[in-house]
Amino acid sequence: MGKFKKFLAAFTVLTALAGSAVFGAGVTSFNSDAAGSQAAVVADFQGNASSQVNGNIPYFTEKELTDRSFESYSDLDSLGRCGVAFACVGKDIMPTEPRGKIGMIKPTGWHQNKYPGLVDSEPPYLYNRCHLIGYQLTGENANEKNLVTGTRYMNVDGMLPYENQVANYVESTGNHVMYRVTPKFDGNNLLCNGVEIEAYSVEDSGRGVCFNVFCYNVQPGVDIDYTDGNNKLAGTSEVKKEENDTGSKTAENNVSQKENAVQENNSTAASSYIANMNTKKFHYPSCSSVKQMKESNKWYFDGSRDELISQGYDPCKRCNP
Ligand SMILES: [Zn+2]
Repeated sequence: MGKFKKFLAAFTVLTALAGSAVFGAGVTSFNSDAAGSQAAVVADFQGNASSQVNGNIPYFTEKELTDRSFESYSDLDSLGRCGVAFACVGKDIMPTEPRGKIGMIKPTGWHQNKYPGLVDSEPPYLYNRCHLIGYQLTGENANEKNLVTGTRYMNVDGMLPYENQVANYVESTGNHVMYRVTPKFDGNNLLCNGVEIEAYSVEDSGRGVCFNVFCYNVQPGVDIDYTDGNNKLAGTSEVKKEENDTGSKTAENNVSQKENAVQENNSTAASSYIANMNTKKFHYPSCSSVKQMKESNKWYFDGSRDELISQGYDPCKRCNP
């Protein structure tokens, strides 16, 4: 974990420099001087999927605040890595159509492997293609500038609750939320150590939504090499690691072949599953839970089960799709 600690130190300096944000009256506890000195010590991962940055106050400047929806994504850098994704989320740019396929995107650090008993999905894939700005917020599908390799733990336990909070707020109020997601890479690493998510509701000056958090790209029980995304069971020896590396390459190839086959096979199929974009569960269309689902949360998915799972969805326990 030496590399991880080094990364955290660098992050502290960056956030200290950025501590000059200015807000309206809504965030009463905000003080720009204090923000600089409090400076965002992101703690080592200690068992919580996320931790607060800068006392939970985002770094948006007054100039950046707007009540007009937009979304912007950084170009990939020379290593093919994503950068900052920034949006003003409003109802008008939220998705009205079901999400399409993203299985063809291979973000940097993509070394897929399965960890039965450690990753809470079936199959238990370590990595998901994580949307920086969640699909439910801006409707971006297979945009390579918005997809990073992230553990299932980061995707579901780390990021999803924050995305849901913002989506629910925008849907229920019609207000706008400034939303910025920054993947944090150490040096030339291909896998990010985590993502920082900042959010601030505009019309009510942060009374509805205001947070600044770091979500850790970790999976408890798995050791991850952030230089390239390789991974192994925690606590196994170096010799074992090499065996696992060979194994993970094989697994990766198998996954790609399987995904390709699935995409071809299902290109003309009707929707095989109905996923709930809010709860992240998916069902057979005949499941009784589907009748109770809000139409706006439904995603008529015509791909494979594996693909849904790799996007962070869980099979319903009632219909067992
Ligand atoms: Zn079901």
